[in-house]
Amino acid sequence: MLKWLKTTFQIKTPKLMLFSALYFGFILNIAFLKIAITNYHITDIYSFFCFLFFFLVVPFPYYIIFNIVLIKKITKPILALFLFLSSITNYFMLSLGVYINKDMIRNVMETSVRETTDLLTWRMFVVVLLTGILPCLLLLKTKIVYKSFKNELFGRSSRIFACIVISAFYVTFFYKELAPFARNNNKIDYTYNTLNYVVATAKYIKKVNQVNHPFSILDKSVHETPYKDDFTDVVIFILGETARSADFELYGYPRETNPLLSKQNNIIAYSNVSSCGTATSTSVPCIFSNKGRANFNVDNAPYEENLLDFFKKAGWKVIWRENDEGCKKVCERVATEFVSNNLTSPNCFGSYCHDEVLLEGLKGILDNVKYKEKTFIILHTIGSHGPAYYQRYPKQFRKFTPTCDTADIKNCSAEELRNTYDNTILYTDYFVSSVIDLLKEYKQFESSVIYLSDHGESLGENGVYLHGVPYSIAPKEQREVPFIIWLSDNVLQADHLDYNCLKNFSKLQRNVSHDYFYHTMLGLSEIDTKLYKSQYDLLNKCRIKKLDFMKRN
Ligand SMILES: [Zn+2]
Repeated sequence: MLKWLKTTFQIKTPKLMLFSALYFGFILNIAFLKIAITNYHITDIYSFFCFLFFFLVVPFPYYIIFNIVLIKKITKPILALFLFLSSITNYFMLSLGVYINKDMIRNVMETSVRETTDLLTWRMFVVVLLTGILPCLLLLKTKIVYKSFKNELFGRSSRIFACIVISAFYVTFFYKELAPFARNNNKIDYTYNTLNYVVATAKYIKKVNQVNHPFSILDKSVHETPYKDDFTDVVIFILGETARSADFELYGYPRETNPLLSKQNNIIAYSNVSSCGTATSTSVPCIFSNKGRANFNVDNAPYEENLLDFFKKAGWKVIWRENDEGCKKVCERVATEFVSNNLTSPNCFGSYCHDEVLLEGLKGILDNVKYKEKTFIILHTIGSHGPAYYQRYPKQFRKFTPTCDTADIKNCSAEELRNTYDNTILYTDYFVSSVIDLLKEYKQFESSVIYLSDHGESLGENGVYLHGVPYSIAPKEQREVPFIIWLSDNVLQADHLDYNCLKNFSKLQRNVSHDYFYHTMLGLSEIDTKLYKSQYDLLNKCRIKKLDFMKRN
């Protein structure tokens, strides 16, 4: 061992470039190669050769880039940095099926310490040690022999030239085969390791620096035009986390994951609801935006009014209670309570809290609501956030067994993973139902509870885990979310809503999405704004008597 530590190696630059390019091209790109191999179909001899040559050119981009940037003094730091980072991204792409694009970089930048530590597993440590850290150590022990400037320049230029010529030949000759493959697999470049996160980070930084514009007011004349009644409006919005509708009994899942909500009266559950994004950082601001998925820009969202601003302008008291990863700038202008900082709560365990922590103090808030003091409370739950699903519920909700009691979910069987995830849904069922039960105690309230999840989750279907796959190619498990509304008898009566109509409509209505939340909330809260679109208000079709603004399109 000591002898090895004292040994030093020598390598000339052409060899170093070649070995590095091969290492990055093949070893650190196993995820990319795996996807290419899986999706490529050899149909004839032409496509066979196209496929064969593909492996020749995979390391070329690295070879060209290394020949340009690896100059004296910065060679080792650059190679070491990218060896380390690429071994980590390779691990995540391979084990969890994640793609690296601008949105994924945003998720990484906006993540919390808890979320990060959840992802650190022994398996990851071993893979990164073998594929990233050991090559770094080897590099540090190696003396790089450079030629004279003139010779380096000549050698490198000719190597780059050769690569470009071969690539050009390859693309030209196999264009007929490559073009449709590229079109059908247009997200494959998100898995081309090293270049993927370098490009994505550059795009992310560019975007962040671009948004230096003033705050825009979307409607100066937001106001209330309520129905005349004697009740006090209280709306509680439970913002779900990583709950997919596929595992909800209310949507036909054969397991009893909604034993309590199934028994509640006045429940409306919309099926086939698609989320705005596949990650919290996009979906949460989008839910509160009037833009809708098609026009939503996550970078602009913090610089314009959102739904909460409109509630405030219409005279509502707005309270955001947080037990997840923050509100993604949505709650910046309203009262916010980080209940997860409560170290003495029996629902908290150091780095995380079970969602019941959000119920602590909720009764106190409701008791203090004065007559006609309209109150909107948002409970941002941690819901089914992975990979440490087993930490999301107390042990009395460990109904489906055996469970996966580790964050290293690849170590668990599909059944264990499914059981653990379903227990989180069972606990969510209890949580949402408890909020409804609590509100029922206040007969003077015109109260409602809305539950909507930010995005779904993959549980290993086709080798994909967690969430955050680019929307256009995301599996439906990541896009389909539960959307449940409970309306008190007082709301139904005072707002002239026909429950049977709502119930039937919820079964017939197709293509519901996060886009509907914004307008449904405005209608439910009787907030009159020019931004309201009645066709996106899920309750409007079943309002027997409409307010004037609800008659507009
Ligand atoms: Zn989320």
